[in-house]
Amino acid sequence: MSPRIRKYAVALITVALAWAVDILLEEKFSESSAGLYLAAALVSTWQGGLGPGLLAIGATIGLNLAFANHRELSLAVGAYGYERIMLFTGIALVVTSLVDRIRRNQQQLADLNAQLEDKVKQRTAALNESNRQLEAFCYTLAHDWRAPLRAVEGVANLLASEHPPKLDADTTAAVRRIRNSAERMGRLILDLLAYTDLSREDFQKTVVDLNSVTRKVLCVYSDEIERAGAEISVELPATRVMADPAGVERVLMNLVANALKFSRPDRRLCVRICSEKEPPNVRVSVVDNGIGIDSRYCERIFGVFERLSPQDNRTGTGIGLAIVKRSVEKMGGAVGVESTLGKGSRFWFSLGAAPQPSESLPSQVTTERHRETVEA
Ligand code: ADP
Repeated sequence: MSPRIRKYAVALITVALAWAVDILLEEKFSESSAGLYLAAALVSTWQGGLGPGLLAIGATIGLNLAFANHRELSLAVGAYGYERIMLFTGIALVVTSLVDRIRRNQQQLADLNAQLEDKVKQRTAALNESNRQLEAFCYTLAHDWRAPLRAVEGVANLLASEHPPKLDADTTAAVRRIRNSAERMGRLILDLLAYTDLSREDFQKTVVDLNSVTRKVLCVYSDEIERAGAEISVELPATRVMADPAGVERVLMNLVANALKFSRPDRRLCVRICSEKEPPNVRVSVVDNGIGIDSRYCERIFGVFERLSPQDNRTGTGIGLAIVKRSVEKMGGAVGVESTLGKGSRFWFSLGAAPQPSESLPSQVTTERHRETVEA
């Protein structure tokens, strides 16, 4: 049966049902209950549109007229019967056309929504494609720049190491500037490559033990920690996340490096690495009492090449936090920062929690204990 015919059949069946119920209820109500037929007309319109609705009204009128003189068949017209039929017809027509209009509006809205979703999907695909091309371009550019840069660096190094007595002061200063710039550009290129590499990298999801990653990271930075005389504390009651081990390590490396780098010279640096359960995630924070960040820039610093105080941070490239954000997002997590200028910052990332071990792990590792671990 075609859908169109089915809609009209539904209208007739609905009226027949209303008629059957009306006959069953006849004992209770001495008159025919017009509400049932009105409901039949509404249901038919809602299901199939104006045509089936009008058919339901027509069928109701036909039944009324056909059985006008048979009270036992319920649709007896009775007293003021024809007036009631006319009233029913008027009300049914008005209500049916209203329902039909609402139905068509809803249909249009659903169509528009579907079109909008389609457009959003197309635009997102186009955007992703152009992002991919842009990243491929950046990657190629960064890759190809390394060779000429190495040549510049090589020549500058040669000049500085082999000909210092022959060079006057101005030339020596110029060579030093070339070397510094080449070195900085080399760092930028490497960071850019690391950033673009993230889009190619496949992140796995396994159980990562935050304790061992933190230990590894602190071990890498042990010299800097020692030099800064920093107090490091680790509180990791929630120790396991579902993530990529190298990804988590990279994120922690960047956050700890920044905490060590952006310290205040006038107070002892304290860095706390802690975690808390935030079902279904675990939130890991790196808290410092360093220079802090103006809240206006807290979003911005996660962008590529964003640096707030380049004069205090000559070695920085402004890519570290962009790498952090992209890595965490690729692992299905989120990152953020809460900071007060001059007081310190709390950089956090949250990742899906993995089943935690039942035994309780060491809850606090102070600088001394950290040293023990590093030395061991
Ligand atoms: P980089 O450290 O190479 O400059 P990042 O992307 O890691 O780049 O950081 C971007 C900027 O965010 C930094 O230049 C600095 O201004 C700010 N920043 C990052 N971490 C901290 C921190 N712990 N305390 C204060 N400022 C920070």
